Amino acid sequence: MAATQETTTLPGQGAQAFFASMFASRTDAELESIASTKRFFERYIGDVRFREALQAGESPQALCDARGLAVDAERLKPIWQNDLWQTIKDEGRQEEWSEAFLWARWVGQLLEHRDMLKEHAGHTDEGRFSAWRRRQMNRTDSELGPRNRSITHPIVAYELTKGCTVGCWFCGIAAEEYQGAFPYTPDNAALWQGVLEVMHARFGEASQTGFCYWATDPMDSPDYDRFITDHWNIVGWLPQTTTAAPLKDEALTRRVMALFDQALCVINRFSVISLRQLDTIHAAFTPRELLAVELVMQNKGALTHKAVAGRVRSRREQLQELGREASDGSQLDTGTIACVSGFLINMVERKVQLVSPCAASGRWPLGYRIYDQGRFETPEDFADQIERMIDAHMPEGLQGEAVIRIRDDLQIGNVEDGALHLGNDFVKHTVSGFPFIERLVNLIGKDGATVRHVMERMSGEGEDVFAISAMIQELYDSGLVDWELARPRAA
Ligand code: SF4
Repeated sequence: MAATQETTTLPGQGAQAFFASMFASRTDAELESIASTKRFFERYIGDVRFREALQAGESPQALCDARGLAVDAERLKPIWQNDLWQTIKDEGRQEEWSEAFLWARWVGQLLEHRDMLKEHAGHTDEGRFSAWRRRQMNRTDSELGPRNRSITHPIVAYELTKGCTVGCWFCGIAAEEYQGAFPYTPDNAALWQGVLEVMHARFGEASQTGFCYWATDPMDSPDYDRFITDHWNIVGWLPQTTTAAPLKDEALTRRVMALFDQALCVINRFSVISLRQLDTIHAAFTPRELLAVELVMQNKGALTHKAVAGRVRSRREQLQELGREASDGSQLDTGTIACVSGFLINMVERKVQLVSPCAASGRWPLGYRIYDQGRFETPEDFADQIERMIDAHMPEGLQGEAVIRIRDDLQIGNVEDGALHLGNDFVKHTVSGFPFIERLVNLIGKDGATVRHVMERMSGEGEDVFAISAMIQELYDSGLVDWELARPRAA
C-alpha cells in the first residue's frame, strides 16, 4: 500500500499562491493583452468624453489612438458593450474574442482573491476576537447591504503619519490636515517592530491582513518602504498599498512596486483624483507596470461610486442646506469606505482604537464605529490595550448588566406564522423558533433593557430560561442587537 502524505495549505499561503499563480499561469503575451485592456478600461471608466464618444458611435480606433492606447479597439467592444459581451459569452466565442475573455477571467480571479482575503482575516486562534469579527460582519451584511460584499474586514490598519497632505474633497474618513510622520528612527523602528510582533503573536495569520494607511496616505511617509518591509519580515505578508499620490515621490512608489513584484500577494491601488492625474500616471508607468495596480477612478465624471461618509456626507449636508446640487455627478453608495473590523493604530499618536465599518450617521459620521480607544508607549502597553479591549468588548455571550437593544437601522415588523420580521432598506430578517420572540423583542425595543431584566421578566411569565438565553445569544451572534454595559446609577 502506498503511503500518502497530506499537505496542509494555510489560507494565507493559499491567497498568496493564488495571486502569484494569476501571473505564473499566463504567457507574457496574455499578460500584455490584459494590461493593455486594463488601460483601455481605466480610460473608459474615468474619462467621460472618451466614454460618451464611444457610445455615440465615433471610431473606437481613432479615439484610442488619440489617447495613446495601444489596443485594437474593435476587439475590445465586448468590454463596453454589454449586449455583445452577453452574446459572445452565451455562444462561447472565446477564440474569436480572446482579449475580452482574458480580461473577464482576470477580473473574476481578482474577485475570487478578494474573497480569499476575507477568509484569511478569520484565521486566528483568538476565539473571542474571531467571534466578535463574525458578529461585525453579520451586522454590516444587513446594515450595508451589497456594499459589504467588497469589504474584506481586515483585522488591523496602521497609520504612519498624522493626517494627510492630499486633502481629497470626497475623503470618506475626513482625514485631518497633515501634521507629521513617524520617522524610521531606531527607537521608532523598535516600537513598530514590537507592535507587529504583538499582533502576529496574538492573532497569527489573520494579522497578515494589516495595511499601513487609513486617514493617511502612504506616500506622506518617506520611510514607507522600510515599514512595510518590516511587516513582511515579521508578519509574513507585504501589506497592500493604496495611494492617491503615486507620483509625489516616484522613486518611493517604484521601490514599493518592486517589493510587490517579489511578494506577489495582493493588488495595490492608486486613487486617481483628476483626469490630468490619470494622464500623468499613464505617461509615467507602462500598462504592464500597472498590471498589479488597480486605478480607482475618483475624478469628476468617473463611473466609480462614492460613499456618503466623511467629507461627502458633510458637503452634501451643507449644500442641501443651501438648496444646491449636492454631488459632482458621481453615483453615491451606502455610506462607508471603512473596511477594518479590528484595530486602528496611529503610530505618531501611539493610539489604538477598536473599530468596525457602519453606515455613516450623525453618531458615526466617518462610516465606522469606534468601540474603544487607548494609548501605548511600548509594545507591552500595546499588548495590554489589546487584552483590555478584547475583555471589555468581546464576551462570548451577554449576561447580567449588559443592555441590549435592537439596532437603530432595523424596523421591528409584525409577527406572521410565529416569525418576527426585522428589516431595513437592504434585508428582511426572519426570526423564528421561539414562541415568545415578539414579547422579547418588544421588551428590548430600541431603548434597550438589561439581560438581567429580560430574564427575570420573561421567566416570571413562565418562559424557559434556557430558551430565553438561547434567543438572546442568537440575536447577539447575528448582529441584530447592539449592547453596552449599564451605567452604574449615581449614588
Ligand atoms: S481619501 Fe485618502 S488621500 Fe484623500 S484625503 Fe482621504 S486619506 Fe488622504
